[in-house]
Amino acid sequence: MVSVQSKKLEIPLVEELMIPAEKVAHVQIGNPLDHALLVLVKSGYSAVPVVDPMYKFQGVISKTIILEETLGMEQFELNRLNDMSVGEVVDTDVPCLKQTHTMIDALHKLIDHPFVCVTNDDDEFDGIVTRRTILKQFSKHYHETLKRV
Ligand code: AMP
Repeated sequence: MVSVQSKKLEIPLVEELMIPAEKVAHVQIGNPLDHALLVLVKSGYSAVPVVDPMYKFQGVISKTIILEETLGMEQFELNRLNDMSVGEVVDTDVPCLKQTHTMIDALHKLIDHPFVCVTNDDDEFDGIVTRRTILKQFSKHYHETLKRV
């Protein structure tokens, strides 16, 4: 927690807000795309993180990416899914956070992304911070402030 003394505002750190890696649904870079789609459909999430066998963060895979890949000239060709791997289509152009970043750093990145991945100095996947978590923090702070006025 970072204290802004003059305003008595305590800003939580990413380490306090993140969902730890062991609770995050994710897929491996070498998994076939049909497995990734299964994880996405079963978990109910539209996107999940991708890691390599050493647990290094590789990017994000989404239902949208997979559906775009299977769209042929006229129809979806779902049989293509087990011929392709997650690594062929993973989105690597995604922002990351460190555990030592603050909630404000997370907020800026979450404007354009529903969740942001947290990595350590070795690029290993530590967890995620979601929009929901940040919105809950702001809601709590707003209600506590209202009670005081
Ligand atoms: P939320 O703000 O809770 O709706 O989460 C936003 C997005 O973060 C979801 O749509 C998922 O893509 C991702 N997400 C949230 N929780 C998890 C989780 N436990 N495992 C994997 N992805 C998650």
